[in-house]
Amino acid sequence: MSPDAPTPEAPLFEARDLVKRFRSRGTVVRAVDGVSLRIPRGRTVGLVGESGSGKSTVARLALRLLDPTSGQVTFDGVDLLRASRGQLQALRRRMQIVFQDPLGSLNPRMRVLDAVGEPLAVHRIAKGSARVDRVVELLERVGLRSADLYRFSHQFSGGQAQRIGIARALATEPDLIVCDEAVSALDVSVQAQVLNLLKRLQSELGLSYLFIAHDLNVVRYMADEVCVMYLGQIVERGDGDTLFADPRHPYTEMLVSALPEFAPERASERTGGPAGGRAGGRARRSVPRGEPASPSSPPPGCRFHPRCPKAMERCRVEAPALHGAADGRAVACHLFDAGREASAR
Ligand code: SF4
Repeated sequence: MSPDAPTPEAPLFEARDLVKRFRSRGTVVRAVDGVSLRIPRGRTVGLVGESGSGKSTVARLALRLLDPTSGQVTFDGVDLLRASRGQLQALRRRMQIVFQDPLGSLNPRMRVLDAVGEPLAVHRIAKGSARVDRVVELLERVGLRSADLYRFSHQFSGGQAQRIGIARALATEPDLIVCDEAVSALDVSVQAQVLNLLKRLQSELGLSYLFIAHDLNVVRYMADEVCVMYLGQIVERGDGDTLFADPRHPYTEMLVSALPEFAPERASERTGGPAGGRAGGRARRSVPRGEPASPSSPPPGCRFHPRCPKAMERCRVEAPALHGAADGRAVACHLFDAGREASAR
């Protein structure tokens, strides 16, 4: 086995201590500051947080569409930052992205055949009639018809256009798809259909997803593991169901308590899509107070302290580290550390 060959239990994707700083108008913006995450094969990791938390920058770093300032990214055991051009090109086939704006991300002058078939040409996978056959197969897989082959993207609804985007992402037979706010622009009922399509494709094709969204309900529905981001850092990580039922970081608590009331009748309307709020109908609907600080001048100590209802003196000067507990939960908060230390005694 070569030194780079992954062990069977190795995650498909791993990022370690990723940092991305941008220069903007003379100041340094710390968009991503020490993010680590692992995506096991066939699983979904959700990344959630308010806009400006750095989620989309993580997506671009993961696919090496951006180079990190520091840190490490490995895909199937290969260090993406040290990969040769050829290696990177081969790996790019296996990592795809689905964007937020389905119509905006497709060239309106392209017919569906060319939009979905383009990656097949770029990566020299198929041409001529083989390419047409493969595009038809991809369209059918995402619930479109061969009759759509010669239509233009502007002739489709938002949900249909997102299906075209997904078919395009599937063209190269990827292992990992980054879904960057992939259903945010869609109506709720259409969202549920696209989410269910993504779930079906995952079970049929063994796909892994990095699923990025600001909507907690959507992430809760999709993700096996959830990472909550705040101002460029992960502040809580855990199994999706337990994290939403028992949030431990004050920021996660705030996000979860702001979810709408649980409405089973709305959930059933959505044919198995994301429910309208957290289970049990305990929601208090308290909107997160205040605005996040700018990533160019994050507060000292815990970055969340100006908004945190539980902030203590220590929080203003000392940044909490992301520490894990025995149940697999990891939280970056001094209160969590105090609880962990007490239970260890
Ligand atoms: Fe709140 Fe302090 Fe915990 Fe930060 S470390 S989340 S300010 S209690």
